[in-house]
Amino acid sequence: MSGSAPPVARILDRLEKHYGKLKPVTPLDPYAMVIYANCGYPANDSTCAKGFEALQKRVGIRPDQILAASDKELTAILRLGGIVPELRATRLKEIAARVQRKYAGDLAAALRGPWSDAKKALKGFPTIGDPGAEKILLFTRTAPLAAVPSNCVHVPLRLGWGEAHKSYAADYRSAQEALGEALPEDCDARLRAYLLLQRHGQELCKRSRPRCEVCPVTSDCRYYQATH
Ligand code: SF4
Repeated sequence: MSGSAPPVARILDRLEKHYGKLKPVTPLDPYAMVIYANCGYPANDSTCAKGFEALQKRVGIRPDQILAASDKELTAILRLGGIVPELRATRLKEIAARVQRKYAGDLAAALRGPWSDAKKALKGFPTIGDPGAEKILLFTRTAPLAAVPSNCVHVPLRLGWGEAHKSYAADYRSAQEALGEALPEDCDARLRAYLLLQRHGQELCKRSRPRCEVCPVTSDCRYYQATH
C-alpha cells in the first residue's frame, strides 16, 4: 500500500457512530451459512433471507429434510429468493448430500483444524469462493480472518486499505492484506470492521456514485482527498 495506512480505529468509530452497532443478519453456523448463500440470486441479504426463511418454515434446513423434499417443492420455495430457482434447488441437494456423506452431517466439526483446510472444505460447496469461505470462517468465529465484504471491496480500497488492480481477485487480496495488517487478529474486531465496511458500501460509499458529500469519514479517505 502506498502512503501511510489510514487510522483504522478512528474510521471505524466514525462509521459506527453513523450506522450504530451492527449485528450479522445471516445464520451463524457454517452449514446454515452455505445453505443461506444459495437461497437467493442475485445473492444478497434480502434475496437470501427470503429464500432461507421460506426453506426453514416449509421444509427445514437439515440435510435429511432437504434431501427428502421434492425438486418441485424446493424450486417453488427458492423462487421467493430470486431467479434460477431450479439451479439453486439442485445446489441445495448437492450441499445437503455432501454434508451428510462427507462430513457425517456436522460441517462445523469438520472445520475444526488448520484454517487452510477449513477454507478448502468450504470451497468445495457451490458458489463458495475465497470471499464466501473467509466470511463463513469469520462469522462463525472459526478463524479471525480479515474477510472483506465481497460486493464492497471498493470501500477499503477507496479509504486507503490496499491498492486497486486490474482484477477483482487482486483487489480483494490487496484489501484483505491491508485490513489484516490494520486490524487486531481478533474475530470481534474483524467482524465489526466487515459489517461497518459492508453497510458503508451499501448506503453511502456506493460503487458507481459514492455520496461523499454526506460521508462521515471524508477527512481520512484517500479517494476523497485525491478527487476533491
Ligand atoms: S469520502 Fe466518499 S469515497 Fe471516501 S469513504 Fe466516504 S463515500 Fe466513500
